[in-house]
Amino acid sequence: MQNISIVGAGVGGLTTGIYLQSEAYQVTIYEKNDHPGGKMDTIQADGFKFDTGPTIVMMPDIYKKPFADTGVNYEDYFTMIRVNPFMDVWTDGEKIPLSSDLADIAKVFEAQGETEMLGFLKYLTDIYGKYINAKNNFIYQSFRGPRDFFNLKTLWHAYQLKTFSSSYAAIKKNISSTNLQYLMSFQTLYIGISPFNGPSIYNIIPMIELIYGVWFIKGGMFQYAKALEKRFIELGGQIVYQAEVQEIAVSDQKHVTGLKINEEFETADAVVANADFPYTMTNLLGVADKAKGKYKQEKIEKMDYSMSCFLLYLGVDKKYDELRLHTIKMASDFEKNVADIDHGILPEDPSFYVYNPSVIDDTFAPDNQSALYVLVPVANLKENNNWDKEQIDLFAEKIIAKVENELALEGLSRHIVYKNIYTPKTFESRYNSAFGSTFGLKPTLKQSNYFRPHNKHAKIDNLYFAGASVHPGAGVPIVITSGELAAREVMKDN
Ligand SMILES: Cc1cc2nc3c(=O)[nH]c(=O)nc-3n(C[C@H](O)[C@H](O)[C@H](O)COP(=O)(O)OP(=O)(O)OC[C@H]3O[C@@H](n4cnc5c(N)ncnc54)[C@H](O)[C@@H]3O)c2cc1C
Repeated sequence: MQNISIVGAGVGGLTTGIYLQSEAYQVTIYEKNDHPGGKMDTIQADGFKFDTGPTIVMMPDIYKKPFADTGVNYEDYFTMIRVNPFMDVWTDGEKIPLSSDLADIAKVFEAQGETEMLGFLKYLTDIYGKYINAKNNFIYQSFRGPRDFFNLKTLWHAYQLKTFSSSYAAIKKNISSTNLQYLMSFQTLYIGISPFNGPSIYNIIPMIELIYGVWFIKGGMFQYAKALEKRFIELGGQIVYQAEVQEIAVSDQKHVTGLKINEEFETADAVVANADFPYTMTNLLGVADKAKGKYKQEKIEKMDYSMSCFLLYLGVDKKYDELRLHTIKMASDFEKNVADIDHGILPEDPSFYVYNPSVIDDTFAPDNQSALYVLVPVANLKENNNWDKEQIDLFAEKIIAKVENELALEGLSRHIVYKNIYTPKTFESRYNSAFGSTFGLKPTLKQSNYFRPHNKHAKIDNLYFAGASVHPGAGVPIVITSGELAAREVMKDN
């Protein structure tokens, strides 16, 4: 098994490619778009530059890992800067700066009383223990068959995660102020699931922000996609752009023989699909439904999908120096806002997130101007498919007015000189993301850990998967890990 083909040059596919190529496999990546990164994408227009997808860099050591593991210094590929305080969060009319300096964050909790501080420390102790457990026993571990999970040791570790309550309920046990509860639980939205019904294990996200800090990649996130591409190519890998795979060809319903691309057939000893798992199973896998194993079409359609996003990319001929790199404005009724998204209702009073890279990096916009990114969590297309031009324009106008008024960005609407908009439909058409969901399959308990699609197909002996919809899940560092796990699965079979 020497010639490996990868479908998709997202973070997952590029990482798998680097690990395999560094072990002397010959890897070719086929990517439908004309550049690397998948959702880690960029728009460059009219003198402005935008990161269009991920913006918050957490777990910096994992970003460095594909470079360190293949014997090079990451600093020769990209530059990381720590950001602290890393975010302003507006909740209930109050702006709270979030810091990963314990002395600073203590002030926020102590200001509400020592009991709240005690609750915060209890939360940290508890969740740090669970994080170590998850890291050592689940996140960096791939699964194949039932025995990998249903054994006494692993079941005991799973039980210790005590993840049956929701993120919000778990926080509420220790902290009584509603504002502080929201402050420590909204982060599940980073992986497209509500804190009010998402498993409590995802409370590790705010802990990771606080303990390991938040970082920024100089020049923007797309520099990281370019860095992965550079490392892959210098190891001898090949990337074919504008090559949309039409089929993963399978013989005897159990062995991949290659890929069909632009009506041509390319042979491969094994295939790694980085394209979204549900899309791959529905659209690419050339086998009868019964040969698909657990993930037959009916199941794929019934699975839960994460939220999506409505995004505005605004070139503004004004600089807002008082607007931090990351700002979140929570809806006045946060619980209703999130419930509306779950039910496919376009929120009347949505929460939103603003990214202002021009405040620390002058490569995003011309002098004294700024490139703003505004993200509004919305339902995926399974729950709400109503994104016609009128709806898009109305919603965009409403969001711009909200950002201007609620963050006091004086004159914002008048200063916009460039505008681009992504809706859930953009994610579906541009990256083949099933139902336009931005974070892949929703990380419910039923779709997490052993119960998330595995990195190797159960029935087809040389088909593997890397990406947000498979184990261990969504978010850049977790997808990097998925890419490594998929590569290790290939190596295990060789
Ligand atoms: C708006 C937004 C904000 C986010 N914010 C953050 C953040 O702040 N921090 C964070 O850590 N994470 C964030 N994420 C999540 C993170 O970006 C994703 O989890 C991660 O980038 C997904 O990588 P992937 O490799 O799984 O998939 P993708 O990026 O979707 O890559 C899949 C690739 O496959 C290609 N492809 C699909 N079908 C075919 C085909 N038939 N033939 C050839 N190629 C094909 C696609 O074009 C794409 O390039 C965000 C995501 C979005 C969308």
